[in-house]
This record gives sequence, C-alpha cells and structure tokens, in this order.
Amino acid sequence: MLNFEAKILIDGTWINPASSETLPVIDPSDGNEFSRIARGTAADIDRAVQSAQSSLAGEWGKTIPVERGRLLQKLSTLILENEDELTEMEARDVGKPLRQARVDVKACARYFEFYGGAADKVHGETIPYLEGYTVLTLREPHGVTGHIIPWNYPLQIIGRTIGGALTMGNACVLKPGEEASQTALMVGELARQAGFPPGVFNIVPGLGEEAGNALIQHPGINHLSFTGSTEVGALVQQAAAKNAVPVTLELGGKSPQVVFADADLDKALPFLVNASIQNCGQTCSAASRVLVEKPIYEKLTTMLMDRFQNLQSGPAFRDLSCGPLISPEQKKRLEKFLEEAKADELNFAAEGKIVEDAPSGGNYVKPLLIRDVPPEHPVAQQELFGPVLAVMPFEDEEQSVELANSTPFGLVSGVWTQDGARQFRMAKRLKSGQVFINNYGAGGGVELPFGGVKLSGHGREKGFEALYGFSVTKTIAIQHGE
Ligand code: NAD
Repeated sequence: MLNFEAKILIDGTWINPASSETLPVIDPSDGNEFSRIARGTAADIDRAVQSAQSSLAGEWGKTIPVERGRLLQKLSTLILENEDELTEMEARDVGKPLRQARVDVKACARYFEFYGGAADKVHGETIPYLEGYTVLTLREPHGVTGHIIPWNYPLQIIGRTIGGALTMGNACVLKPGEEASQTALMVGELARQAGFPPGVFNIVPGLGEEAGNALIQHPGINHLSFTGSTEVGALVQQAAAKNAVPVTLELGGKSPQVVFADADLDKALPFLVNASIQNCGQTCSAASRVLVEKPIYEKLTTMLMDRFQNLQSGPAFRDLSCGPLISPEQKKRLEKFLEEAKADELNFAAEGKIVEDAPSGGNYVKPLLIRDVPPEHPVAQQELFGPVLAVMPFEDEEQSVELANSTPFGLVSGVWTQDGARQFRMAKRLKSGQVFINNYGAGGGVELPFGGVKLSGHGREKGFEALYGFSVTKTIAIQHGE
C-alpha cells in the first residue's frame, strides 16, 4: 500500500498539508518511532470541507442509493483483501494483540458490507393528514459530516461512523486520533481504489486542539460525530451549539457486569475477564466492574483471581492477553490511580505478569484485579483505561441496580442470571445504552444500535438506527384537492 508519510487525503488525492510540520508515529510495544503523519491545520480542514461540499454539489450528490451501496460494499471487499496488512498495522500502531486487531479489520469490513446493503433500504413515509392532501417525508443527507475519532479502535469506529454517514449520502471529513492514524489513512486509500468520487471521504490527521478544533468550529460542517473522552465531548457539543448543528457523542464508560447466584459461572468467567482486559482495558465499553451476589462472592472472586494470575502482557505481535498501553502518559495516569488506591488500602487481590523480554520502551502494565472495592471509590467510579477489574459484592437485586447505576456513565451493562423474569426487570432498570443478558459484547455487533446515556454521550451509531442520525427528515405537504 501507499506510503502516506505526512500526506492528507483531499479531493481523492494524497497531497501535502499547508504546513510541513509532522507528528511522530510511535509503536507502543517498544516506544520507537516508525513513521510520521501530517500535523493538519485549520487551512487543511478548510480545504477538506470545501472538497466535500464540491462533491455534494457534483457527482456524489447525484449518486443514487444503490450505487452508494455498491461503493461501500466494494470498500468492504478491499478491506478484506488487505486483511493481513491492516491487521499488522493496527496491532503495531495501537499496540493491540494481533488477534484483536484482526477482529477489528473484519468488523470494519462488516460495517461497510452492512451499510452497503442498507443504502437503498432507508426510506421516508406517507402520513395521513387533511382531506385533499398527500404528505410524505424524505430522508436527506445533512451535507458535510465531521468525524473525530480516538486511537483505541480506529478501524471499527471508521466503519461505523464513516459507513453510516456515506450510506445516507453525506460527504465526510475525518480527523483520526493522533496516537494511531495509520489504518484510517489505509482505509482512505482503499476508498479511493473502490472508486468513491473525489471529495467524498477526506482525511486530515493532526492534533485535537489544532485540526480537531478547526473541524468542530468550521461553519461548513453540517453534522458532527465525535468518539472520545467526556471532556472533549463537551467542547464538541459547545462548538456544535454555536453553529446549531446536530452532534453524536460516543464517550467513555464504567460498565458493570452483574452476576447473580444462579448464574452459569463457567460460561460467565471468560466474558468477565475479557471484557475488562480487551485492548488492555482501553475500551469505552470495557466492563471494568463486576458486581457479585453475596452467596457466590468468594467463589467467583477466587475464580477471577486464578484467571488474572495467568494473564500476560507483552508486545502486540506476541499476541498475549494484553498489549502495552498506548503511551507513557496513559501509563502514568493509570499508575497514579493505582497509587491512590494503594494508599486507600484497597485489596489488590491478583495480578498478571509482564513477559520478561518485553522491550523496556513499551508501556506495559500488569492486568490487575482489585476486590471488595468500595462503590464510591474512584476505582469503582472513573474510567481508568487500563486492564484493571474492580470486584464488589451486593445483597439483592435492588442493591445491584443501585450499584450498577451509581456511576456518572451509562454505556453498556451485563447481567448473568437464569431467572427469566429477573432478566427483563434488570434490562429495564439498568441505565445504559445496551444491556447484554448472559453474554457481553464490548461494543456489540455491527447490527446493534450503540451509544450512551448520562456522561457516556447521546445519539446512536451502528445498526439501522445510525442512519436516522446521519440523515435529516424533510416533510412535504401537497395540497392537491379532492
Ligand atoms: P480524546 O477525547 O482525548 O480524543 C479523541 C479525539 O478527539 C482525538 O482525535 C483527539 O485528537 C480529538 N480532540 C482532542 N481535543 C480536541 C479538541 N479540543 N477539539 C476537537 N477534537 C479534539 O480521547 P482519547 O484519549 O483519544 O480516547 C479515549 C476516550 O475515548 C475514552 O474516554 C473512551 O471511553 C472514549 N471512547 C468512546 C467510544 C464510544 O464509542 N463510546 C469508543 C472509543 C473510545
């Protein structure tokens, strides 16, 4: 594939950005620089927005839904044809174990496949109204959509956000996370090869406070899709308010899994472990809290401790339980949380290992299980973004709901019980965008609407529902007489 070093994708062409300044691309597994990306500026964003506007006024604006769908599906095929190369790059750039990176490549392809198939199946309605009238609605694109994504799941998030926006006929400007932009650029090249008209999908890498800020402030943007932290999400919402544009915020989480005494523990165990350490815990929908009913608390905690003791962290290409954290800053942030937890005498019950030959420049941490965590402690309340699982007991169903809903977040919840009536009661009472019963899919499937409540954000991506968010309803009332 192309060498994107320091280029930006505008109008279907890889060009030099306005400034010659670049940013390093660091491999989190060893701390070495392996490439450089453009440090995009407001001038580049402006060019990207103009290019998107031209595509809407030109060929893309006239492309019928079935043709849009075919282009999306062509892109899906190309992603799968380049699966190995994308997998290796995602593993290297994010520090993600290879098999997890491969899952992300397949998910990215699946989004474009799903949305390609949906493009000609979204339609408006006719509405019964007054005598002598016919009323109908059209679903129209917003126009130019701005997309800001984080570094932790570039491929998956591109699939869901760019896939949804293109399906509805929008033209996109993407600002990937500065810590991991490589696969975003690769997907941009594959979109070019798939034959999308110039200007439909523009990519400007760079810093959040520069390129990102220019994107959210740009008056030519008609819709914003932001995935990232709650703090930056608030800035995005302010900018969206200033320009009166709709915004989707996919933010952080502190998701719980609630385990009742009648649960199938052998079935639950791998989900309880994996959902907390996937991508080294750097997952918005990581289930970083496990709430356990008292009669099985000791038994399940012991089972979890056994598993945690056998987890290993090491380079992404070793394909172990955990890779490194994304950056030394992220590692310091996590260590600070853990020092405070230690000072508060929290019970560090079990930890995994860092493999002996892990490069000293990598940002490795040991997977950690903390038991008996007080529900109000920061370890039980805040997103740590590391492989740390907080375990705590509860008395009864009432208290489990209270504890599960006790954080400022509400992204995903898991419930483990054989009792059918309780499954429904819990699903209704838990305050989160998704609830999984007797399973847990961090983030869920491509088909399943996803998004948060409370500080986890608002708006939905994934599934068909995303397509309503990426379009605007126009009502047409025709008075034709009787
Ligand atoms: P972040 O908010 O720091 O950065 C996300 C993106 O915003 C990056 O591209 C960054 O460059 C950009 N940005 C930063 N400052 C900006 C500004 N002032 N204006 C415009 N853009 C700006 O988040 P992060 O550390 O990269 O990612 C981790 C966070 O993302 C976690 O909180 C995680 O839970 C969340 N996340 C949520 C989802 C979801 O779907 N809900 C998915 C993945 C990650």
